[in-house]
Formats: sequence, structure tokens, C-alpha cells
Amino acid sequence: MPNLSENKVKIPEQKPSERKNNFDEVSFGYTYEQAKEEAERCLQCKNKPCVQGCPVNVQIPEFINLIKEEKIDQAYTKILETNSLPAVCGRVCPQENQCEKFCVRGRKGEPVAIGRLERYASDNGTQNSEIESHRPAANSEVLPHKVAIVGSGPAGLTCAGDLAKMGYKVTVFEAFHVPGGVMVYGIPEFRLPKKIVQKEINNLKSLGVKIETNMVMGRILNIDDLFETGYAAVFIGSGAGLPMFMKIPGENLNGVMSANEFLTRVNLMKAYMFPETDSPVKIGKRVAVVGGGNVAMDAARCALRLGAENVSVIYRRSEKEMPARHEEYEHAKEEGIEFRFLTNPVKIIGNQEGWAAGIECIEMELGEPDSTGRRKPVEKQDSNYLIDVDTVIMAIGTTPNSLISDTTKGIEKTQKGGIFADEETGRTSREGVYAGGDIVTGAATVIQAMGAGKKAAKAIDEYIKSK
Ligand code: FAD
Ligand code: SF4
Ligand code: SF4
Repeated sequence: MPNLSENKVKIPEQKPSERKNNFDEVSFGYTYEQAKEEAERCLQCKNKPCVQGCPVNVQIPEFINLIKEEKIDQAYTKILETNSLPAVCGRVCPQENQCEKFCVRGRKGEPVAIGRLERYASDNGTQNSEIESHRPAANSEVLPHKVAIVGSGPAGLTCAGDLAKMGYKVTVFEAFHVPGGVMVYGIPEFRLPKKIVQKEINNLKSLGVKIETNMVMGRILNIDDLFETGYAAVFIGSGAGLPMFMKIPGENLNGVMSANEFLTRVNLMKAYMFPETDSPVKIGKRVAVVGGGNVAMDAARCALRLGAENVSVIYRRSEKEMPARHEEYEHAKEEGIEFRFLTNPVKIIGNQEGWAAGIECIEMELGEPDSTGRRKPVEKQDSNYLIDVDTVIMAIGTTPNSLISDTTKGIEKTQKGGIFADEETGRTSREGVYAGGDIVTGAATVIQAMGAGKKAAKAIDEYIKSK
């Protein structure tokens, strides 16, 4: 008999008053009893509607059933059949818009907590069984072929993992000194601990995936060099790491930075561990973060943890239009982050030393829907007002860096400077070159990038076999 409770089993979390002072993970994860109780809410639907919401095709009812039967290693193995980064997805996937959106339990009450259960199985399942089961056979017909992956974010790693499982020799070239993409340089420790990402990367290495760091493709080598050195195909998953600014007066003042720079300093350069590490980041007492997505939430919550006394998020639309995951927004509010909706900065004001001291904002109201279907914010005349700040963090979006497309012959670019690729296969305008993730779509989500990496791996396999 399934558990008929309308609500998900609550996940234990650090109290807001404590967690706002540390970088430890906010959520502790389910205990076995809690995971079993939640797993019992799944109706084991024959037509699996939840699976259609998962871009990497996790076999959801099957793995949940294995948790129910206390077979945690098998549950983990089942997930790993299609998902190379399950502990990451269980934590940061926007489940409410993906798998859980399609769960029938959501029609009356809350959907099954698929993400939390995926996290439970990944954190508690044993590694070895799954690595052995996925190691390619030594006599695989595809073994001699080499495939290069550019970028070690979720798109690149998923493509690499799937190709390695098929038996290809895969090398990932990463510009930074640490692999993981946004999962390590963007998403903070309190949401996605680095050791979790590392564990999943180690799993991929155990499949034979090689990772070469400090390799900026387009500078040290280019795509032509890869083909010349014997790679049969290349997948580009170089993300969208170029920050956008508002182009308002005062953005060049000291104390104004992009969320990208701020979060990279906090995460990759480990400012969050100062004074244990000697790479602090300067943060003021009054911080304004401009934007309303996950990046804005992360920047605001990092600023709070680094000692800011007042942190406000300035967003030009209303609460309803905010693109951030609902859970992250709720967590930010609980921690004391202030939200100024329907507000837009028009100017940053500096002091005599050239540091940001205030931000002039204007009130907004929602007009007609724009091309994205969201109501367009328009300025309310003469509603300007000033907020005292000493740090301003811009989190209004990022675009792809054109380094690779500029240095690769025969690559068609998108209007936003990314790489044009077929949605179903990741095929670009150049033979043998595939692309996926944020470099193609612009800033999106981990699971969308993974879905693109997966489709491209399949298409690369077909391409190589057809040659
Ligand atoms: P990336 O993760 O950006 O990885 C690209 C990699 O390519 C990087 O490691 C980069 O260094 C490397 N690279 C770039 N150029 C080169 C080159 N020339 N040569 C070699 N390597 C290169 N999504 C969610 O689903 N949930 C969330 O909660 C969430 N929170 C986020 C929070 C923040 C702060 C940010 C910035 C993003 C967040 N996202 C979230 C979005 C998500 O992280 C991205 O959509 C996803 O990481 C894109 O994956 P990707 O593989 O395309 O690119
Ligand atoms: Fe849901 Fe993401 Fe897991 Fe797929 S990978 S089942 S979308 S949480
Ligand atoms: Fe279980 Fe919901 Fe999927 Fe049905 S739709 S199998 S209840 S997770």
C-alpha cells in the first residue's frame, strides 16, 4: 500500500540563523527511514510520466522501487545507467520544472521528491558496483577511436561519460585548473559541495575519461589541431561564461563586479575558506545584487556568509517572474536577504575615492508581454530613489565567449555569439564537430546541458560508425 500523504517528507536542513554564518551544505539529505517513507509515495506508474520530464532519461520508478526495497547500491547503479552526475542533479536540478512537474502525485498535493531520492541514492550508494558494470569491454569495436571534449561542465562531462561507456577513448580539455565548469566555479559550497562534484568526476575517470586542465582551446591548441592529432570527432561544451553588464553610469567604480567574478573568487579561488586560504575577496557591509536568477541568489547568499550586514536583491520584474529556483529563493528569504521587486538601477554613485557608495534605482511596473511571454517591465516616471551600498554585484546574465568559434574554421555562430548546433544531435556546421549546453542555448540549466551532451554522444557514435 503506497504512502498516501499529500506532502513530501521534509528534508532536514541547517537552521537559517546558523547557516547564514557558514558555507556548509544547507540541506543534510534524507536518512534511510525518510527516503523509504518518501519512496513509498511513488505509485510506480506503468507509463512513467515523470521520465518524460528528465532530459537524461533516469528510470525514476525503477530506482525509487529499489530504494523502497533497501537496495541502495542497485538504485544508484540504475540511475548511473543514464545519468553521469546524479548527486549533482539531485541537488541542483530545477525538479519542479522537470521530472516532478510530470509526477501524478502532484495533481493532488506535492509530487514525489524525485530529486531528494536521487540525491539519497547517490550519496549512499556504493561506487564500485556501478563502475565495474559500466566499464567498456576490452574488445569493443569502437575502442581505437579518440574523441575530444572541450569544457568540463555538465555538457562536456555527460558527453564524455556516455562515449567512454560506449568504449571510446575520451579526453576532456578544460581551460581552468579544476574540472567541473559552473558546478565548481559558480554554484557555492553550501548548495553543491565540491567533494560531491569531485566524486562524480572520479567516477568518470574510472571509466577511462582523461581530463587535461589548464588547456584553453583556441589559444594553446585549436579544433584543427585536435583533428590533426587523430581525434575522430570533437564536442564543444564551453559554456556561457562571459558576464553582461547594464551599461549604466558608474559600473566601472571600485566595488562593482560581475557575479561571475565574485563567485569565481569565492568558489574556485576559495575565498570562502579564508583565512585558511590566502585568497580573500573584498565585500562591503551593504551589498546590492542586481538580477533574479539562481546566480543572483548565490551571489547574495555568499555575500551574507562573507560578513555583509545588509544584502538586497534588486529585480526589475515581480516575484512571480523570478527565474531562480523556488527553493533557493525561499532559503535566501529565510536567511534575511531583502528583495526589492519592480526596481531597476539607473546609476551607481561613487565617493571621492572612486568606490561605489550608492545605487540610484527607479520603480517599475509590468506592461504588455514581451517576446519571452513575460510581462515587460516599464519605468514609473519620477520614482527614482537612492540606496546606500558599498558593493554592487551584477547578476543579469552571461553570454558565450566566442574564442572557440572565432578560431575554428567553418563554424556557424548564433546571434548571441554562441555556436549554432542542431537541437537533436548537437551537429554543427562543420563535419565532426558537435556542440551543446550553454554555448549553444545561452545560460540555461545543468540538466539541459547534460541532455545536450547525451544527445551529442549518441550522434558522435553514429557519425564515427558511419565513416
Ligand atoms: P559550463 O558549466 O559553463 O562549463 C563550461 C566549461 O568549459 C568551463 O569549465 C569552462 O572553463 C570551459 N571552457 C570555456 N572555454 C574554454 C576553452 N576555450 N577551452 C577549454 N575549456 C573552456 N543550473 C541548474 O540547473 N541549477 C542551479 O541551481 C544552477 N545554479 C547556477 C548558479 C550559478 C552561479 C551559475 C553561474 C549557473 C547556475 N546554473 C544552474 C546554470 C548551470 O550551471 C549551467 O547552465 C551549466 O553549468 C551549463 O553547463 P555547460 O557544460 O554548458 O557549461
Ligand atoms: Fe529529475 Fe534531474 Fe534527476 Fe532527471 S536528473 S530525474 S530531471 S532530478
Ligand atoms: Fe512515481 Fe510520480 Fe513517476 Fe508515478 S509519476 S512513477 S508516482 S514518480
